[in-house]
Amino acid sequence: MHFKDLNLIDPLLRAVEAEGYDTPTPIQQQAIPYVLDGRDMIGCAQTGTGKTAAFALPILQLLSKTPAQSQRRNIRALILSPTRELASQIGDNFTSYGRHTGLRAAVIFGGVGQTPQVDALKRGIDILVATPGRLLDLMNQGHIRLNALEIFVLDEADRMLDMGFIHDVRKVLKVLPPRRQNLLFSATMPRDIQELADSFLHNPAKVEVTPQATTVEKIAQSVYFVAKQDKRELLELLLRDKAIRRVLVFSRTKHGANKLAKQLTDGGIRADAIHGNKSQSARERALADFKAGRIRALVATDIAARGIDVDDVTHVINYELPNEPESYVHRIGRTARAGASGIAISFCDSEERAYLRDIERLIRLRVPVVEDHPYASNANAARPPVQERGPRPPRNSSPNGQNSRSSAPNSRSSGSSSRSSSSSSSSTALPSRSVARPGAGSSSSSSSKSSANYESPSTLSLLAESEGGREGGDAPRRRRRRGGGRGGGGQGGQH
Ligand code: AMP
Repeated sequence: MHFKDLNLIDPLLRAVEAEGYDTPTPIQQQAIPYVLDGRDMIGCAQTGTGKTAAFALPILQLLSKTPAQSQRRNIRALILSPTRELASQIGDNFTSYGRHTGLRAAVIFGGVGQTPQVDALKRGIDILVATPGRLLDLMNQGHIRLNALEIFVLDEADRMLDMGFIHDVRKVLKVLPPRRQNLLFSATMPRDIQELADSFLHNPAKVEVTPQATTVEKIAQSVYFVAKQDKRELLELLLRDKAIRRVLVFSRTKHGANKLAKQLTDGGIRADAIHGNKSQSARERALADFKAGRIRALVATDIAARGIDVDDVTHVINYELPNEPESYVHRIGRTARAGASGIAISFCDSEERAYLRDIERLIRLRVPVVEDHPYASNANAARPPVQERGPRPPRNSSPNGQNSRSSAPNSRSSGSSSRSSSSSSSSTALPSRSVARPGAGSSSSSSSKSSANYESPSTLSLLAESEGGREGGDAPRRRRRRGGGRGGGGQGGQH
């Protein structure tokens, strides 16, 4: 299938061609016709599947084909995103895909002054990409009117809930005109997301490109049981392998991310940290350095990593396991993007074993254990079989690959040759269902941004806000799956 088979208009076809996109990804193939038809839609898809274009392209088409209600530019499409990085990325994508349409987009998010954002709004825009906090803020100040809104997109809805934005989302929903098209995207579809969807979507079409919460097929996963105090040395040992070219290291706390980045740098490994306490310019610099290969390791917290769109992340290392199992799926999805294969390595200390159990239940797989390493702790003892959690709806894929019981499978070679010869992990546990990936020929959407009609994304990404603050100080709003202990109450908020 080609993009033209999706009945996209010429200005959009030219833009996707310039992006280097050959074939629509599965989520694009499924979603674009529904959105063009004006249907409400639920899309269950992870970042990395091409989901942004799946909604951005048909939105641009709908807006260019139907004339605006008034002479003045009004906000006709609103995209709510949980983080500023993701918002910025979506804004860039709208700019790239829409550069021949004459439509104008702007991005607003917290953490920076509002004046440039307000100026952009005053000049008039058709599409607004926003994080909830700044949106409500500017609405309350009277700078944003949504009475002409035609299309509403809630992106990464599961993340939105996890980050405690549900009340803000509901407030936004209340002020939207009742007649509108609604799209909801989420990597996972737990019951609370379904309930949220039921509350504002009308007879939605459903598209799903990965079985929910199933980890991406191309990612070779493994876990190292290691004592907390040995993690850093294990990391340095692994990083001796030059095949780990571009690695995203996940830390649960901002403080931990800073400390680890410094330790790595002191140890001669080019590294930086990205998290919500960093200024927008520091985040952008770290990301640019990472993309350009000037740093090899980017140490990130979960929230900061949302929206990081770097195609060539060779490895994800979970230095600490997330206490929310869905975060594991999000994290490892940062590798194996745009058709590449990837490797995800997790460190698990004795206090994190419950997290690992939750993750394995969620992904319905036993993550292969690398036992033979100098810092091995005996945490592998007596791992009970993976059992699915009660409330989760059954997965509609084949049972193939479920519950690999072999705790230390050997014989893995593909992709893991980069690790030391002591590595032993398996690909056998991964599900066989095909997973939507953008074609290999993808290029970063930031490749071309010129349009006289668009707000320059580089200017727009200076428009930042407080979601970073929510990562930290306001984090008690954040829903906790596992309350106390590490990462729960103890270091609460230090994400
Ligand atoms: P997303 O899931 O929207 O974050 O997209 C992930 C990556 O895939 C981005 O770098 C996009 O530029 C890229 N991409 C999106 N659609 C396609 C496509 N049809 N072919 C190739 N790459 C794509």
